[in-house]
Amino acid sequence: MPTSHAPAPPKSSVCPACAAGLVTHERYPTWCPDCEWNLLPVEAPAADLTARQRRAAERRWEAQADRLALARLRAEQVYDAVAAGAGAREDRTWIGAMALAGFVHLVTVGLLAGSVALQFADSWPLRVVGWLGLALAFVLRPRSGKVPEDSGVLRRAAAPALYALVDRVAAAVGTRPVDVIRVTDEFNASFARVGLRRRSVLTLGLPLWEPLGPGQRLALLGHELGHDVNGDHRSGRWLGSAISTLSEWWYITQPVRYDDRDGSMTNSVTEIADLGQRLAGLAMGCVNWLVGLLLGLLERLTTRSGQGAEYRADAIAARLASTSEAEGLLRTLLLAGSASTVQSRLRSLSGVRQSGLSVGVAGFWGAFTAELASVPPQETERLLRLSVRELSSVDSTHPPTHLRIRMLGHRPVPAPALVVTPEEAAAIEAELAPLRLRIARELLA
Ligand SMILES: [Zn+2]
Ligand SMILES: [Zn+2]
Repeated sequence: MPTSHAPAPPKSSVCPACAAGLVTHERYPTWCPDCEWNLLPVEAPAADLTARQRRAAERRWEAQADRLALARLRAEQVYDAVAAGAGAREDRTWIGAMALAGFVHLVTVGLLAGSVALQFADSWPLRVVGWLGLALAFVLRPRSGKVPEDSGVLRRAAAPALYALVDRVAAAVGTRPVDVIRVTDEFNASFARVGLRRRSVLTLGLPLWEPLGPGQRLALLGHELGHDVNGDHRSGRWLGSAISTLSEWWYITQPVRYDDRDGSMTNSVTEIADLGQRLAGLAMGCVNWLVGLLLGLLERLTTRSGQGAEYRADAIAARLASTSEAEGLLRTLLLAGSASTVQSRLRSLSGVRQSGLSVGVAGFWGAFTAELASVPPQETERLLRLSVRELSSVDSTHPPTHLRIRMLGHRPVPAPALVVTPEEAAAIEAELAPLRLRIARELLA
């Protein structure tokens, strides 16, 4: 969040590191485009650390830097391969991921078969164990999600113009029309196939949709529907359900902490119970650690496929809407932090009724879009350069934005394949009006 704890701009607008002239902006960090001074404003370390604590902090920082360097290296390797023209077929690492997913499914099947077999055992404790195993197998069953049924779901009849546009995009991309469009309050968008019938769900976050221009919205639809044809193995049924099963394992084996229990009733019985609990906790912890390793391995094996798929979805977006619109979309996606800061600011203003500054529900989206549009170019450039350094360590599905923009430049598409007419755009705007009001009200609450 760049705006909340921005450092005060330097008094002179000259870079302290290389003496280049600087542009300062009161709400954003001041940094130097020439030498990247203060690209990521660092908070001063706490002064009261012991030498030992300081060394530990340094080690953590170094380990994090190593992880980032490795992730950056991998991202660059995928970039080079895709830029050299490698398609989904050239990537073989996903085969290992498929095998690992097979192992996960095998464990679930083994658990189910073993639990069923125990039902025929002669001793009742074994039958109880069998019932527990059945319950566990039920929790761990491969799931493929389901079609959401919340108030954000837009029916075809309620939004014919939006569905018509998305159908046109689907035809241009070469996939089936989407089954469900869902609108949320997130600065995000996604595409997924769910359930046994593999129904398609397109999720559009209004805070992302609203600030986009017509061409960028087209690029967004192209990118998301492109996920249906870009060969991303992670969204497939085999791998996707194995990941969901592993996540479930991870969730149920998370160790519980007993430290903060009330110790007032200590006697030998509770002590024995306590010991049992601790031992069980230790066993759970081991399983949890192992599951974490498997999840990490699965992520590593699918990084190349996932990032390659992301570049291909970007290429589809550019083909439909032109390279400049696809790039505009990527630059807007960088502003997630600014978007949430703007939302909190509008929310706090709406609390001050007398101030006259409150925009109200009706003016929310106008104010939100205007605020995002006023983010100075030097701030977007800073976030873009940060994407080089700061690869998200939790999620390697997305290549860093600067590489995605560079990739778009490899095969520039000057003219869009599809065009949204002003009438079409106005009809979609009208269809989204009730959701705009409802989501604005929720975001201001
Ligand atoms: Zn400088
Ligand atoms: Zn994507």
